[in-house]
Amino acid sequence: MPINVVAQQMIQPNTGLADVVKKGLRIRVSGLNIVDFVVFNHDNLRERFDASRTRGNQGKLFITKCGYLISKFNRPMMKIVEDTYTEGTHDLEKGMCSAYTYQRKARLGRMGEYPREIREVPDHGCWENLSQVLQPWNILPEDIPSPFNIFMTMEIDGKTGKLGNTTIRPSKMAHVDLEAEINCLVGISVCPDLMIDAKPVEVVIFES
Ligand SMILES: [Zn+2]
Repeated sequence: MPINVVAQQMIQPNTGLADVVKKGLRIRVSGLNIVDFVVFNHDNLRERFDASRTRGNQGKLFITKCGYLISKFNRPMMKIVEDTYTEGTHDLEKGMCSAYTYQRKARLGRMGEYPREIREVPDHGCWENLSQVLQPWNILPEDIPSPFNIFMTMEIDGKTGKLGNTTIRPSKMAHVDLEAEINCLVGISVCPDLMIDAKPVEVVIFES
């Protein structure tokens, strides 16, 4: 458990949280299912996390310990300083779910593609959660960047580029610690993650 805790909160599935993580502070995300994570420069909210820069500048599709979350301005925003997820990888490809994602699937009769029975089609997803929690900072839904998807292990075919969802998640509570390289505003959504039975996620901001 981190010492010198600045803030601590449980986030229920399909809800979100936004908070400021000042330069030098760390944020720990602990969970068993997908967490959509976005970052803004708190001193200039127009500067945002950029998944493409993050992949391109580091020359890889996956980041883990010692990897950086990079902004559109090619600036390291956060550094992953600890990562206990060993069963799979985190995702930078898939973007985020939204009401549209689920309504479309339901309309096309494709809810049966999930490996578990879906009794209720979500009427919102990560995009709506992030839109709501970032609203106090006047961030518009269309300005929310594609996220860093923590604990989301995708199957990627290196030849065709086909992306496949998997049910690979942490088998026991895992966490990712990120240290702020600049003053950050962080937005977090606990994905409804219909592939599995989503559980609450704990977020702790602490001094390193
Ligand atoms: Zn989602």
